[in-house]
Parts: sequence; C-alpha cells; structure tokens
Amino acid sequence: RTVYVNGQFVPEGEAKVSVFDRGFLFADGVYEVTSVLGGKLIDFDGHATRLERSLRELDMKAPVDKDELLAVHRELVEINSIEDGMIYLQITRGAPADRDFAYPAADVEPTIVLFTQNKPGLADSPAAKVGIKVISIEDQRWGRRDIKTVQLLYPSMGKMMAKAAGADDAWMVEDGKVTEGTSNNAYIVKDGTIITRDLGTEILHGITRAAVLRFAREAQMKVEERGFTLEEAKNADEAFITSASTFVMPVVEMDGQKIGTGEPGPVAKRLREIYLEESRKAAT
Ligand code: PLP
Repeated sequence: RTVYVNGQFVPEGEAKVSVFDRGFLFADGVYEVTSVLGGKLIDFDGHATRLERSLRELDMKAPVDKDELLAVHRELVEINSIEDGMIYLQITRGAPADRDFAYPAADVEPTIVLFTQNKPGLADSPAAKVGIKVISIEDQRWGRRDIKTVQLLYPSMGKMMAKAAGADDAWMVEDGKVTEGTSNNAYIVKDGTIITRDLGTEILHGITRAAVLRFAREAQMKVEERGFTLEEAKNADEAFITSASTFVMPVVEMDGQKIGTGEPGPVAKRLREIYLEESRKAAT
C-alpha cells in the first residue's frame, strides 16, 4: 500500500514520523475518515470543511488547502486501486525539538498523513441486514467532542466493554441523555419521528448525520434534534446509527433488550437506501 506523508507518496513501510510528534505524545491532532464507493469520494467537501473547523478550533495550521487535499485523496484511491473503502487523514501539530505542554512555535510544520483501507463491498455489509447490538456506558470523554481529535482512548475502551458484553458498540450517556456512539451518531424513531441529539460541544457534528437529516426532511419525515434518555431508546420503535464508514446502520438491541421488533426497522432501512443512492450520485 502507498501512503501519503508530508507531501510524499511512499510505500507504507517507508513512511516515517518523528517520536517527538505531538500527535504521538499529546494526541494533539485531528482526523477525518472519508468513504470511497465505486472509486469515488463520499461527501469529500463535508469532511474537508469539518477538518478546517477542527484545525481552527485548535489554532493549528492547515498544511494543505482543500484542492490539494482532494488531489491527494484521488491519487491514493488511484494508486491503491480502491473501489470500496476508506481514506484516513490525520494532521498533528508536528514535531518540535522537545516535549513541552505548551504549543510549539509557529514555524514547526504540522504533520499530515493519509492512508487508504480497502473494504470491498463496504455498502453491502451483512450487519446492515440484521442490525447491531449496543450497550450503554457513561460518557467519560473530554468536553470538546465537536472537535474531531485523535484522542480516542475512551471510545476504544467503550468498544471493548461492548465486545465483552457480546455487543457491537456502546452508546454513551451524560446527565441522563444519550450523547452518541463510540464512533457514530445515535438516533431513535418513535411514532414516525426521528430523534437525535442536537448539535453542541457534547457530540461530533457528523457529516453523515447532516446528510441523513437533510434526506429525511426532503422525504417529509419528521425530525427532532434533542437529547433522548435510555428509557426512550429502549421503548423506541427503532434505533440506528450513522457514520462515514457504516452509513445508516440499524440498532436492534440495547443493554440486552430488543428495540421494537428486534429487527431493522423501516425508517432505518429506507434512510440507508436513500443515503447510499444519493451519496453515490453526488460522489466525487
Ligand atoms: N461521532 C463520533 C464520536 C465519531 O467518531 C464519528 C465518526 O468517526 C461520528 C460521530 C460520525 O461522524 P461522520 O458521519 O462524519 O463519520
């Protein structure tokens, strides 16, 4: 596999990043994951725009502009012959001469890395046909979850807790309300209304979330953006998650309790179809 690091395309075994890189030492960095379907990028513009915002919020320089970024994405898809898969992009604050909590001087260049992951048949995942199981856990992440940083240890722990409980993912709960999944936004459906947490610093502003809510409204479905409780989730007719890599994925069980019929619901199935169809059409 060929990867991209600081302006160069190199075989993955030859890519190098300094041990002083602040991404490595302080998790001082941001990332994006863009999916590829049929060799084309899904919602590249949304991911590039969110990346710019994450960088701005952390006072970090963008090492490349949007056009260059798009060119690098396309080049990697091409070189690695990705039909279906993902592109991971990470920008960290770079590698000053020493470890220091304070940000380095402005002349330290950020580190930028991109790599691809080949996932043939990404859109036909068997999990989408049966749905996934989630558990609930306390949300113990930091308070700026709207910035897509690489500090993913608590979400990793959440995934492990889910696995240990025989589930696929965890929904995190804060002050009695669900925030989001470990790496996805969380939704329930009650009496035909789609309910998902409103945007704030408590959740990541999902690019897939924005698209799915737009498609839902265009299809005259009712949408409520507000926090919901675990109780509401367990009594919902349906539940689902969204993310760049799972698109729309039905959730059929929560803390060992069936949601609705215990099978993927009609709203989640329909939204998945609309999302895949529309985003393939708009893919670049
Ligand atoms: N929430 C969290 C915590 C995430 O990590 C992600 C994706 O990685 C999402 C939501 C979904 O965001 P997107 O739809 O932009 O992939």
